[in-house]
Amino acid sequence: MKVMKFGGAVLRDAATVLKVVEVIVSHQAERITVVVSALSGVTDSLHQMLKEVEENEKAIRPLMAGLKKQHEEMVSGLISDKKILTEALAELKNKMAKLERVLYGIAYTEEVTDRTRDYVVSFGERLSAPILAASLRDKGLSSIAFNADEIGLITNGAFGRATALLSEVESNLQKTIKPQIEKGAVPVITGYFGCDQDGRAVTFGRGGSDYSAAIIAYALKAEVLEVWKDVPGFMSADPKVVKEARGIPLMSYQEAAELAYFGAKVLHPRIVEPSMMRGIPIRVKNLFAPNEEGTLIQEVKEKSEWVVRSVAMRPGLSLVNLAGPAMAYTPGLAGRVFTALSSAGVNVYTMAASMASFSVIVDAQDVRGALNSLRGMKEGGIQDISTTGDISLICIVGKGLRETRGIAAKAFTAIAKAGVNVELISDGGSDVALTFVIKSPDSSKAMKALHEEFIK
Ligand code: ASP
Ligand code: MG
Repeated sequence: MKVMKFGGAVLRDAATVLKVVEVIVSHQAERITVVVSALSGVTDSLHQMLKEVEENEKAIRPLMAGLKKQHEEMVSGLISDKKILTEALAELKNKMAKLERVLYGIAYTEEVTDRTRDYVVSFGERLSAPILAASLRDKGLSSIAFNADEIGLITNGAFGRATALLSEVESNLQKTIKPQIEKGAVPVITGYFGCDQDGRAVTFGRGGSDYSAAIIAYALKAEVLEVWKDVPGFMSADPKVVKEARGIPLMSYQEAAELAYFGAKVLHPRIVEPSMMRGIPIRVKNLFAPNEEGTLIQEVKEKSEWVVRSVAMRPGLSLVNLAGPAMAYTPGLAGRVFTALSSAGVNVYTMAASMASFSVIVDAQDVRGALNSLRGMKEGGIQDISTTGDISLICIVGKGLRETRGIAAKAFTAIAKAGVNVELISDGGSDVALTFVIKSPDSSKAMKALHEEFIK
């Protein structure tokens, strides 16, 4: 049994969805469960809608009209059987009407709660799953769409950043989905969200459909999880920056998670957790070159030939530095810094400490929030708070990095030779990743130098 996940980037228009349908049809003998994201751009539009509608009821009509057009055109371009087409259009209409009612509710109360936000943004997947199921029926398969909050995909209820309760999900999906597969049907399940104990929709955060797919693969004890994308899989560097970059055929769960977290936008890092627990291999495939092998992610015992498998970079960050001569002697300071940042919703990518200072790396857009949350701490040993903008995190990933002598020396020599200064280093936290920070204008020079040194 296998789970196949299709993201928004391959659900662009009727032509790309037809390719998705073809891939599913050609694998149907293997017994498949499908997980889908919203059609391309739809989740963005829904988030945008929430902003506009809260202030202006008049925004609802044109926004809904746009969504209707995109989905109806897709359905009409995909389905040829009259009856299936009529049913699919009726289902879309029904869902759109629900969404519209919620939006008017928001406009009326002029307030978006976390709960209504998650419900509204879940509509992208509620609309795309029935379209794909109908297209599969149109090709003669037996296929049913399921909303994740109606099949028992239970989470801890943290709106916008939920975590699945795997054993509950497993026992529920064994009852709701497994019998469908045994009957020979292809269930198409919505990605991106599950529900809380009361059945309310709760999302996993942006890009969360990859995580959904891994949860579902876990619950159904799938033999493999395939993620179908519009790119060839993981690469040794971003090919837009390093033109010699090449595909990575095999990598470990940890390497994939670090790379995904630090820049390679191939997968959502959380796809790894449930997959690793059950040892389910993840295969990343390119929809536009389905015969290429892509990247296989699984338990890997041996190091790669060069130790370093890939270099990645994450731009758009800022460094926030806290300084004070007695910082190292102020107990609990780091704890308070992290508590303040996390209550302001600021994510810390990496950090470094010395006796008199403490630096954290955050998203550039979070700097103001970070400064506000830290301002109140000045009396507690911190004398000065400063920021450096426009920095990038560079990450070298490979199994065995930590125990292989000379990797850091080689990396920093290569960087220095390229004329790039290193602003902050974070090492030792992970077995498979070495991360450091440089100024963004230097990042492509640095990436090329590292790729040349370690991979080429
Ligand atoms: N549709 C959601 C998003 O765009 C989830 C996903 O695509 O993975 O964030
Ligand atoms: Mg998406």
